Amino acid sequence: MIRSMEALKENLKKIHERIETACYRSGRKSSDIKLLLATKTVSAERILEALKLGETLIGENRAQELVEKYDALKLVKHRSHFIGNLQSNKINSIIDKVDCIESIDNFRLAERLNRRLAVKGLSMDVFLEVNTSGEDTKIACKPDELFDLAEKVSLLPCLKVRGLMTIGALTDNEKSIRACFELLRNLSEKLKAEKSPNIFMEELSMGMSGDFELAIEEGSTEIRLGSAVFGARK
Ligand SMILES: *Cc1c(COP(=O)(O)O)cnc(C)c1O
Repeated sequence: MIRSMEALKENLKKIHERIETACYRSGRKSSDIKLLLATKTVSAERILEALKLGETLIGENRAQELVEKYDALKLVKHRSHFIGNLQSNKINSIIDKVDCIESIDNFRLAERLNRRLAVKGLSMDVFLEVNTSGEDTKIACKPDELFDLAEKVSLLPCLKVRGLMTIGALTDNEKSIRACFELLRNLSEKLKAEKSPNIFMEELSMGMSGDFELAIEEGSTEIRLGSAVFGARK
């Protein structure tokens, strides 16, 4: 974990340069790529420093951690996504504290979320999380189940499906990682072509500290970085 604000500033500067370079290589605009800071295990103080350095989007993995940091973080304007495995019994604790839930991977969860939102008169942006690597350690929707999930979720009035999310294969093999991102992009294009109500395929959330340049080359609109920003986690 890094200690000083100087080091954080330096890390962010390097990351933004790498985003620029990856965009240049692939003929894209860096303004089309959002940087989400993956803040699991990072203190609220440190996250506030990153926000003060100009970052605007953060993502937590655990409901409890999100709730613990919420009061401290709300002092500085930012957007907050939930990116972890969400248990149904935690929905209520985060429902009015996040702008988007990126990890919707089954209809039961979507339905419960919709019901809680309806009670509160709220609506929520969500991404559908797809397991593009085939690694069975990952809890996420299988590619061939995505269309069914999307169709059902599109009928839930309080959810707006804004995009797809994936975690690339955990390997050094560039080809395998790239194939994951390419698959997510193809799935998104197919869903877009179906023109379902409530399905807006605007975002592709893919790319982490070890593979974000590949993700940008494959069309990512949002990269989720933790260790590259804040240093290695314990
Ligand atoms: C932790 C995490 C990240 C960031 O991982 P790094 O390798 O530290 O950049 C991104 N997405 C999700 C869903 C995560 O859990």
